[in-house]
Amino acid sequence: MSFEVTSVPLLDLQAQYQPIRDEVLAAITRVCDSQRFIMGPEVEGLERELAGMLEVKEAVGVSSGTDALLAAMMALNIGAGDEVITSTYSFFATAGCVVRLGARPVLVDIDRVTYNVDPAAIAAAITPRTRAIIPVHLYGCSAEMTPILELAAKAGVAVIEDAAQAIGSRYHGRPVGGLGTIGCFSFFPSKNLGAFGDGGFVTTNDAALAHRLRLVRNHGAEPKYFHKLVGANFRLDAIQAAVLRVKLPHLAAWTEARRRNAARYRELFAPLVVKGQVELPVEPDGFYHIYNQFVIRLAERDRVKAALDARRVGTEIYYPVPFHLQECFAHLGHSKGDFPAAEDAADHTLALPIYGELTEAQQRYVVESIAQVV
Ligand SMILES: *Cc1c(COP(=O)(O)O)cnc(C)c1O
Repeated sequence: MSFEVTSVPLLDLQAQYQPIRDEVLAAITRVCDSQRFIMGPEVEGLERELAGMLEVKEAVGVSSGTDALLAAMMALNIGAGDEVITSTYSFFATAGCVVRLGARPVLVDIDRVTYNVDPAAIAAAITPRTRAIIPVHLYGCSAEMTPILELAAKAGVAVIEDAAQAIGSRYHGRPVGGLGTIGCFSFFPSKNLGAFGDGGFVTTNDAALAHRLRLVRNHGAEPKYFHKLVGANFRLDAIQAAVLRVKLPHLAAWTEARRRNAARYRELFAPLVVKGQVELPVEPDGFYHIYNQFVIRLAERDRVKAALDARRVGTEIYYPVPFHLQECFAHLGHSKGDFPAAEDAADHTLALPIYGELTEAQQRYVVESIAQVV
């Protein structure tokens, strides 16, 4: 039996939750019964499991993806007078964290096709004040890391991967997060591995840096009440860790489901692509895209979005305003036209539903809704 589709949400967390509901509730109950809410065995267990999956030496649970970025930069002693090169086109936290620490974000444009930071633009932006480069693996596809890592090594600066949208994504076989100096991940509920609230983690292969990250996460205390450095409370809750340990073994299958949906969109959109009416995301050779978002490009994006709203198809614009045009970054002195690829993406891209439980009928409804108006 099949039902006629009349709406498609951008994300349906219920569909993922219901099959694992009993296991999740048992895990939460386990923490409640233990009355150990801060750090402890659930967090340590999760850290080990994440490090194993991502093929890194260390994973350190933190309170959010934003705090992962802050902790990474604090562990590297980045602050006033320092420059950090990053993409002008990402979620706010990527550049917001740099400014919060008193450093200067040096923004660069993206590649028009991948939406990821352009390595040539990074090369041109390096100065003696550069302390780090933050490539973002936007939408779940790795940035072009080889040239970025080479530039960083030559300049002697750190690479902080913003992998918040890219857990399990690979670059020439290697998981992102372990390619640079530190990887930063988010467990925000809409990410591919979402907590039941906020959470995140950082990864590194450098044992000394992992130690500093653990200090930064907990007010620099070692032992308790003896403070080696000024950190913050960036701890991950045990309840979140317990929920995430239930979800983690499913992640690979959930990612494969997203990839199957992406492949199906490619088939369904093929006629519109041939006519140049829609541009689809790319997965370069040797990359493993995890499709946290499936973002398409359209000439008349706003008109298509309105039509999809009317047909009750959930969509989102990631992101309508690049960093260089944000009011709070006016002090950086940028103006419209500075980064044309990012500005074009902001005006013409749209994220479609891509979650794993999406049905073929729902995908057909999305594509037909777009075909009617382009
Ligand atoms: C989600 C996200 C973050 C921040 O993560 P939170 O857990 O929401 O703080 C940082 N960078 C990117 C690219 C993100 O998508």
